[in-house]
Amino acid sequence: MTNRTFTMIKPDATEKGSTGAILKMINDAGFRIAAIKMTHLSKEKAGAFYEVHKERPFYNELVDFMSRSPITAAILEKENAVEDFRKLIGATNPANAEAGTIRKLYAASVGENAVHGSDSDENAKIEGDFFFSMLEQF
Ligand code: GDP
Repeated sequence: MTNRTFTMIKPDATEKGSTGAILKMINDAGFRIAAIKMTHLSKEKAGAFYEVHKERPFYNELVDFMSRSPITAAILEKENAVEDFRKLIGATNPANAEAGTIRKLYAASVGENAVHGSDSDENAKIEGDFFFSMLEQF
């Protein structure tokens, strides 16, 4: 059990200029930023990040979307980080997300859903290490 999770602010949110507002919600919810960077994923890198979804029908759409515009990747720290962050972002499909969640406020569809949040401590570590070297994690 760790107290860290990993997030990406996705291309749709970048394009709409929502990055700052989303970071403020994350900050206000009590998460400390332990690493952060803005970057533009190549199709190859986006495909590697979502390798686990390779067999899903939406995989190609997801890779195209995630490599369309820059993203902001971050490692976040807080007690119970993974679970609390999933609560803050809301359901995968914003139509099902609770009021006040990041996806309810900033996402348009199940595919273009504004933010990523790790689903386990194990994946949080793998995903954080995908973007940040040990020298970049504070
Ligand atoms: P998450 O853990 O809430 O992000 O959801 P999943 O792990 O199930 O899916 C990963 C990501 O794939 C989602 O955040 C969406 O960006 C995308 N995705 C999931 N379902 C669909 C779908 O039906 N269509 C499309 N285009 N993308 C999807």
